[in-house]
Formats: sequence, C-alpha cells, structure tokens
Amino acid sequence: MYDVIIIGAGPAGTTAGYLLGRAGFSVLLLDRKNFPRKKACAGGITPKAMALFPFDISGLVRGTCREVKIIRPGDASFIVKAKTPLCYITKRMDLDAYALGKAVQAGCRFKKIDRIIRLNQDAHGVSLTLSCDDKTDVVRAGYLIGADGANSMIRRLISAQRSCIIKLPALEADVPVKNAGLHPMTFDFSREIKGYYWIFPRKTHVNIGIFSARPNGTMNRALLKNYAMDRLKTDTLTDVKGYPIATSCGRTHLGTGRVLLTGDAAGLAEPLLGEGIYSALQSGVLSARAIEHAVGQKASTPSDALGWYRQALGDLKLDLRLYRCCASILYKFPKWSLAVGSCNILHNCFSRGYSKGKTLHEMLMPF
Ligand SMILES: Cc1cc2nc3c(=O)[nH]c(=O)nc-3n(C[C@H](O)[C@H](O)[C@H](O)COP(=O)(O)OP(=O)(O)OC[C@H]3O[C@@H](n4cnc5c(N)ncnc54)[C@H](O)[C@@H]3O)c2cc1C
Repeated sequence: MYDVIIIGAGPAGTTAGYLLGRAGFSVLLLDRKNFPRKKACAGGITPKAMALFPFDISGLVRGTCREVKIIRPGDASFIVKAKTPLCYITKRMDLDAYALGKAVQAGCRFKKIDRIIRLNQDAHGVSLTLSCDDKTDVVRAGYLIGADGANSMIRRLISAQRSCIIKLPALEADVPVKNAGLHPMTFDFSREIKGYYWIFPRKTHVNIGIFSARPNGTMNRALLKNYAMDRLKTDTLTDVKGYPIATSCGRTHLGTGRVLLTGDAAGLAEPLLGEGIYSALQSGVLSARAIEHAVGQKASTPSDALGWYRQALGDLKLDLRLYRCCASILYKFPKWSLAVGSCNILHNCFSRGYSKGKTLHEMLMPF
C-alpha cells in the first residue's frame, strides 16, 4: 500500500511526485513509456512556469528569448521585447527524463506499465488494476493523482468525460537551419487557420509547429513543409510529432473522492497559445500540497484533499477564463486584435508582466 499513486511522468506528475517524495510520502509513479521518451511539445517555458519548478532546470535550457516576433494577417509584423527573458526553450525529452530522475531521487518508485484496466475507490483508498509485462497487477494507495495528459485514462475511469474537455490539435517538427539561434521566437498569425504557426530557435535547429484554436482544425506534414519552405527556405523536417492540448470550456473536473486530476488530464492548458506546462506544474504542486494538507489534518472525509485542491486552483481557473475570453476575441477578429496588440504601450505592458513571471489576471489587474 502506497500513500500516493501518480499516473503520468510529465511535468504535472513528476512535480507532484518530487514534492510528495521529498515530504516523506511513499509514492508509486507509473507511465506507459520508459524514459527518456519523445514528447510532442515545443518545450517553451515562460518565466511564471520556470519559477514553479521545485528544482533547478537551468542546465536544460537550450535558448533564451528576450524578443518575440508577432506576424499579423497581411504579413506585417512587430517585435515584443523585454529586458529579462520572455521564454526559455527546452527539449521535453531531456526535461521530462531529468524531472523523473529528480522524483526518483526524492524517493518515488517509478514503474513502466502497459495499460490501466480498472480504478476503484472506497473509504480507505484507491486500488488500480493494471497490466504490466503481460501480467495483471493490483496496486493500492491512499490517494491517486491522474497526470496522464490530454487523453487521460484516469479522467475516463472516474467518468469525468462529462466535464467539457476540449482537445486542441498541435503539430511540430524540427528544421535544421544555419544560425538557428539567430532566428527570433515567432508567433505567426498570418495564415487563415484559426490558430498560429510558431518558430522557436534552438541551438542547432529551429522547432516549427501549428496550433489550432479549434478542436477540428486540420493539420498535416504537408502544411508544415510548405510553411518551412516559405519562411525558412527548406522543406527538410525531422521528428514530426502531433498531440492534442487539453483545455476546457469552463466546467473543469478536478477529480472525485481520493482521485485528483492535474495538468492536461484536467484540461488545464490555456486555449490562447496552448501553454500547458505552467498549469501542469501549478496543479502538480497544488495536488501534492492538497494531499499533504489532508494527511496532516487526518482528513475526516476522502474529499478533504480534493476540496482543498479545488479551492487552491481558483487563481488558475480565473486565468483560464481570461485566456478563453482573449482566445475568442483573437481568433474571431485576428486582424483587428493584432492591430491593437501591435500598439507599443499595450504590448510593453504585457511583456514586462510576462518577463516578471506574472499571471494573466495579475497583468490585467491595473486595467
Ligand atoms: C506540439 C505541441 C507543442 C507544445 N508546446 C508547448 C510549449 O512550448 N509550452 C507549453 O507550456 N506547452 C506546450 N504544449 C502543451 C504541453 O505539452 C502540455 O500541456 C503539457 O505537457 C501537459 O503536461 P502534463 O504533465 O499534464 O501531461 P503530459 O506532459 O502529456 O504527460 C503525460 C504523461 O502520462 C503518460 N501517460 C499517458 N497515458 C497514460 C496511461 N494510460 N498510462 C500511463 N501513463 C500514461 C504519458 O506517457 C506522459 O508521460 C505543447 C503541446 C503540443 C502537442
């Protein structure tokens, strides 16, 4: 019997695992992949996300962006600048393997599994039936954290599908180019796709991708190739990977009983640009604290941890509401919104806030 089982060793799961392990809890961390493993993600870490890592990841940063180029419909562009970094570029394969190593060092036991079969809860804990090396196993714990990403099995098993999870598609590839580090970090809204293309500089190549703000947005390798040809004068793509980013339309389902959902499993990514690492880290931290709190209080009901967790995520949910609002304006009126956004006073105000690690509602407070 473990204190906590965590499913998924992405940023949400490893952060919760590290904090709980360090606090002396017995933690079983399960993932269907062995690490290091590839992960569809551009690896952009904003300052507010950077501040949430419970360990130093500076050795994994492959690029630091103080300038962001925004391309508007019609191809006009403007540059958003800050004195301190607006974004740190990492590679998820390295980042996730490093974070898992930290969680294991903190005391978590990691196991690769094949499949989750069943999840049961009673007054004393949670039991998980899983398949591993063609054998069926049952593991038990006081609490379970679902950190298994956008297509979460845990979300399905606790019937949280009724919450309105929205999966937004994203596709990325690496493009080898000369002087990759000299390319500005770019968000390109010039194509009529209800979303955007990105170019993120890394040391030896640039990472390009498409994000769709619509669940049914179409994207494929050919679109990325055309884009690379157009903007980078090459159509050599490597490592093309796609995955959904899970956000919600408002009714977030954060768990039930002794099961807490975190990160994309709870639909906590923001729908404007698809940033999900920040909310994965934030919900990872808060789910760990919620369990520590409930155990410390000798919780009288199993939902004490969940109640604490729901309340603690209030600010993040407020931010998601604001992001939803911004996304609906931007993708409905991209020309007009980005014309307003190109105004120096406005974007300087946001870039200062972003670079200081402020959240969206903290930046909007003065207005
Ligand atoms: C193309 C693309 C680019 C992106 N770029 C950025 C970016 O630059 N910055 C940013 O902030 N966000 C970005 N995102 C979003 C970000 O990747 C996610 O929001 C973030 O990874 C969510 O973290 P998580 O810990 O909740 O889940 P994940 O990182 O998805 O981790 C889930 C883990 O659970 C495991 N798992 C899944 N199912 C099971 C199962 N049944 N059993 C066991 N294990 C399971 C997976 O193997 C995985 O290791 C991008 C997403 C995509 C698709």
